[in-house]
Amino acid sequence: MQKELFNGNLNLNQELGWQDIRTIFLNPCKVLILTHKNPDGDAVGSALGLMWILQKLGHTVNVIMPDDSPLFLKWLPGHHEICVHDRKSGGRIIPQLFTDCDLIICSDFNASERLGSVEPLYRQCTKPSLLIDHHPVSESFTKLQLVDSSKGSTSELIFLLIEKLQFVEYAGIEAATCLLAGIVTDTVGLQASCSYPEIYETIAALMRLGADKDRIYFEIYNMFSADRMRLLGYSLDKNMKVLPEFRSAYIALTIGELNSYRHKKGDTEGFVNYPLAIAGIVFSVLFTEQSDHIKLSLRSRGSFPANEFAQKYFNGGGHKNAAGGKFSGTMKEAIDRFESVLEEYRELLHADQ
Ligand code: 5GP
Ligand code: MN
Repeated sequence: MQKELFNGNLNLNQELGWQDIRTIFLNPCKVLILTHKNPDGDAVGSALGLMWILQKLGHTVNVIMPDDSPLFLKWLPGHHEICVHDRKSGGRIIPQLFTDCDLIICSDFNASERLGSVEPLYRQCTKPSLLIDHHPVSESFTKLQLVDSSKGSTSELIFLLIEKLQFVEYAGIEAATCLLAGIVTDTVGLQASCSYPEIYETIAALMRLGADKDRIYFEIYNMFSADRMRLLGYSLDKNMKVLPEFRSAYIALTIGELNSYRHKKGDTEGFVNYPLAIAGIVFSVLFTEQSDHIKLSLRSRGSFPANEFAQKYFNGGGHKNAAGGKFSGTMKEAIDRFESVLEEYRELLHADQ
C-alpha cells in the first residue's frame, strides 16, 4: 500500500487515520530504523531523533546505516548506538535485527537502492515497513509512506509527525539536537529549501526542547581539519572549471588528489556549493573518484532541475536543487558526458534571469 500520508500539509488521507498511526507508536515493539548510504546530516539526524523519541515511548530501537557517517556528525547524541553495515557493529548481528524486528522505518530516502549493501537484507524481510521522507518522487518500497516533499528535511517531518501525534513530551534534548542538526544540514545552514515561516516555528520548538543552535553550527561547520581546508583551497583554485555559456561550473577530484590531502570521509561535503556563489552560476557539480565509480553531487539554483539531470544521465536523483548520481568509467569520461549533455539543457539553464 503506497500512501502519501502527509500530502503536503500533514493531512492523512482516508484509509489510515492519525489515530491508527498513534496506536501503532503507542504499542512498544522492536523497531528497526534504516537510512541511506553516504549518510548526510538529515539521514543521521532524522534516524537518531526518531530513535530517541521511540525509545522514550518504550520501543526497542536499532538504527542501521549501510556505511559510516562523516566525522562532523559523530558528536550527535546516540551516534555510537548506530549499527554500520560495512563495519563491526558492537556484537549485534545485522541480519538478526531484521529477523527480530516488528516494524521497519525507512528515513530520508526514496529508492531501496539507496540502502546499498543493506538492500538485500531489506528486500528479503517481510516485516511491516513505513517510509518517512521528503524527496519528490518515491519508488514504492515500503508498505506505508509518510512523504511530504514541500519540507526542507526529513528531520522537520519527524518533528511535525510527533507534534501531530501529540508525542512532543517524549522529545528530549537529545532528539531535539539530532532533529535540528538534520534541519540545519539539509537546508545548507538555513539557506535553501526553508523559505516558509513554519520551519522557524519547528526550529523554535526544538530550541525550547533544549537544542543548542550555536553548538550545532559549530560542530558541523567549524570543526574541519587543516587538510580539509587546504583541499578546499586546491579544489577552487586548481580544479574548478566555470562554463559561463551554460551558467555551470564543476570541480573534479581524483583519488590521487584526495589522498594527497589525506582525505577523510565527509571532507568534500559542501564543496559543491561554492561555485553557486559565483554570479550567474545556477548549476554546480562535484565529481569525486571512488574505488569503482565516479560519484556526482549536483546543486542548482532556482528552477533548474538537478534531480532530472542526475536521473537522466548519471543514474541518480534527489531534490530539484540538490541531487546525486554515479558514473561507471573514468573521470575524463564522466566529465565528457557532463559537458556534452549541457547543450541539451541550455534553455533551462537560462530560464531564470
Ligand atoms: P549528495 O550530493 O549530498 O550526495 O546528495 C544530494 C541529494 O541527492 C540527497 O538528497 C540524496 O538523497 C540524493 N542522492 C545522492 N545520491 C543519489 C543517488 O545515487 N540516487 C538518488 N536517487 N539520489 C541520490
Ligand atoms: Mn534529507
